[in-house]
Amino acid sequence: MTPLLPPHLFDSHLHTPLCGHATGHPREYAQAALDLGLAGLCFTDHMPMPAWYDAPWRMKRKQLGEYVRTVQEVQREFEGRLSVRLGLEADFHPGTEAYVREVLEAHPWDYVIGSVHYIGAWGFDNPEFVDEYERRDLTDLYREYYALVEGAAHSNLFDAIGHLDLPKKFGHTDQDGMAALHALDVIAAQGVSLDFNTAGWRKPVAEAYPAPDLVRAAATRGIPFVLGSDAHTPGEVGWRFHDALKEIHDVGGAVVAYAGRERLSGN
Ligand SMILES: [Zn+2]
Ligand SMILES: [Zn+2]
Repeated sequence: MTPLLPPHLFDSHLHTPLCGHATGHPREYAQAALDLGLAGLCFTDHMPMPAWYDAPWRMKRKQLGEYVRTVQEVQREFEGRLSVRLGLEADFHPGTEAYVREVLEAHPWDYVIGSVHYIGAWGFDNPEFVDEYERRDLTDLYREYYALVEGAAHSNLFDAIGHLDLPKKFGHTDQDGMAALHALDVIAAQGVSLDFNTAGWRKPVAEAYPAPDLVRAAATRGIPFVLGSDAHTPGEVGWRFHDALKEIHDVGGAVVAYAGRERLSGN
């Protein structure tokens, strides 16, 4: 049997069926977290965006209230046993900032991840559009991608950057690395954290986000990590957190969690 995780840990990247591509009631995610010995979890489902942007992969604006109520119900059910927090995975896509700000002001969020899933109109992490990589120069692609990540860090909308090196998902790794390091400088200067996202270990690239050299570079810059499984099913909660912790601690990195959009250390 796998040993229990250290008792202060949170899983802070989790989805719910409201996004249309996750299974299991949020209560089952909470039970899984409790069984693993986690201190808590923070739901971060894909937030509503303007109707023209990536609609099939997220909850609709009119479902936001249901999302908040469901998480608050689970919060009450697990009170005293597990801390259940309310967050969002937001998208950073230039032109949508005002809409995102509106949603962020509508409810008392604990934690907001800012993720880049699109370069222009291309949803580059969608397996359906993977052939587009063959038409791209990877160095240019990463330069464009990290410019968007810097935009996310500058926007002051988000607590952490989601799955930092996401374009590697299908194996198109970044051979250059300069744009990534520049983005880390901006992330550090803006006081933003990084989602240490174990889902990468389940993808073709078979490497967590961010890559080990970027984990080291981030730790060197004093950027802390927020642990996230990016679970889309209860069985993925807390997935490979032992490996994540080892990787972070080996390079002197810190793990934090968020409540009320405040960074809490010692997590
Ligand atoms: Zn998802
Ligand atoms: Zn994502």
